[in-house]
Parts: sequence; structure tokens; C-alpha cells
Amino acid sequence: MIKTSRAVLLSALIAASGVAHAAQAGEKKTVLTTFTILSDMAQNVAGNRLNVVSITKPGAEIHGYQFTPSDLVNARGADLILNNGLNLELWFEKFTRQLGKIPNVTLTDGIIPVNISADAYKGKPNPHAWMSPKNALIYVENIRKAFVKLDPAGAKVFNANAKKYSDQIRAVDARLRSQLASLPKNKRALVTCEGAFSYLTRDYNLAEHYLWPVNAEEGQGTPRQIKGVIDVVRAEKIPAVFCESTVPTRGMEQVAKEAGTKFGGVLYVDSLTDAKGPVPTYLILLQKDADIILKGLGGR
Ligand SMILES: [Zn+2]
Repeated sequence: MIKTSRAVLLSALIAASGVAHAAQAGEKKTVLTTFTILSDMAQNVAGNRLNVVSITKPGAEIHGYQFTPSDLVNARGADLILNNGLNLELWFEKFTRQLGKIPNVTLTDGIIPVNISADAYKGKPNPHAWMSPKNALIYVENIRKAFVKLDPAGAKVFNANAKKYSDQIRAVDARLRSQLASLPKNKRALVTCEGAFSYLTRDYNLAEHYLWPVNAEEGQGTPRQIKGVIDVVRAEKIPAVFCESTVPTRGMEQVAKEAGTKFGGVLYVDSLTDAKGPVPTYLILLQKDADIILKGLGGR
């Protein structure tokens, strides 16, 4: 009997926690985002006026994320959900269907997508649009508009924050452009596990090769994919290959070994780290990736 009543009490506590969460926050409205990079952008625009919470946690695999009952409980009472779109969050439709009526805004609205050129995803938009700082400016503008609608009294704050943050994004963009321009012609190729750098390589004029186009696709790092990349790396004498933080690196380490090149390290794309990790913010993530790419490929 004690066991049962404890279970009842526990479930009552869990059920109440969504509401408690909103109540604790006082007057502030709560904005959910589907992953940490969107949270960081949203937090920069929100300042102290809104609570911003990411559904997936730092380091999480975000494409095929399996949401939990407590994710749903925690989301209850939120005032707005920001998602990436372009088929990034395969779980999002089911999540919002189970959650009920909370307005959501897709942050890639207005972005011109780069289409995927390989495998089962051929012709579909590549979802990693935030890896272009120029696109990030569109995300920020979409966030600003959504926040002004959600909390009109905060418009002045949101406008000022969005402007300041956009200036910071432009500064990082300019720095990356100049740094990556230093790579010699024969070293301008980025080889990664997931094809998550299509926007970055487009912006900074690098060739892009990868093992698989999008995480959560069946067959990540198949023998055919590995052989294909080994052939390219050998033929073009690419000095280093890389892999992303949210997937296993062994396929790419095999490529490096068999192609006789070096494994240049782990890049960050889909997820920030926590505050103590190497990429606690989106802007740091961009710079860190550029540093790792430059070091691996032998830029300045
Ligand atoms: Zn991804």
C-alpha cells in the first residue's frame, strides 16, 4: 500500500511540475526550443524578460531524439516553441501533437535551403542552416518577431538585444571568412561524418565530403560510404578528416587510417556543450570549428 501511495504521490508531483515551473517563473513567459543552439540564440534576444529552455540537452543527438514523458510534462505551460524546421527534428510533429495547443515558430522561415545531394535524402533541404552565420541573422530576426508578438511590452529590449547579437554574429562571420580564406587551394576540403557543413562550406568556399547526409538516416558509415570517402581523400590528398560530437567517430577514424591521412578531431554542429565544455554558445561553436578545421588542414 505504501508503495502505491508513493507512486500516486510521485505521479501527482510530476503532473504538477509543469505548472510549478510556470508559477515559479512569476510573470515571465516560457519559451521552449528544440535544441541548445536555438536556446542560446533565443536567450541572447530574450535577455532577462523570458525563460528560455531547450527540450534536448547539451550533447544530445537531436534529429531522431526520443522525447520522454517528462519532456512533455516540462513543456506544459510553455507559451511558445521555437523549432528549426527543414525536417531537422523528426520527432517534433509527434511531440507537439501530444502537447496540445502551444504556438510554434519555425526559425528557418525565409532561408534559402541548400539541398542534399546524396543517398536517401537527395533533393531534400539540408536542415543545418544555422551553420551559416548569414542564416543565423535570419533566425535572430524570426526570434525577435516571435518575441515581440509574445510579449509586446518587451519590444524595445528584444529589438536592442537582437541588434547587438546580430552585430556579434556579423563579426564572427567576418573573422571566419578571413581565417578560412587563408587555407591554400589544395587544402580547401572539409570531410565530416554527417553532411552538416553544407552551409558553412558554401559560405566560405570549401569543398564538402561526408559519410552520410543526415544523422538518423539508416546506415551511418556503411562500407560503401566509407570506401567512397577514402577514395576522395586519397585522390585529393586531403590532409585531415573530421567527425561531429554527437555521433561515433570510428567510421571516420577508419577512413583516416586507410586513406593515410590524419583524424583532425571532433567538430560541433547539432548540440552545444554545457557551460564547462568547449562550446557553451553558438558563437563559440562557430569559432571553435573554424579553429579545428584550420589546424587540421594546415591554415594559419
Ligand atoms: Zn545534424
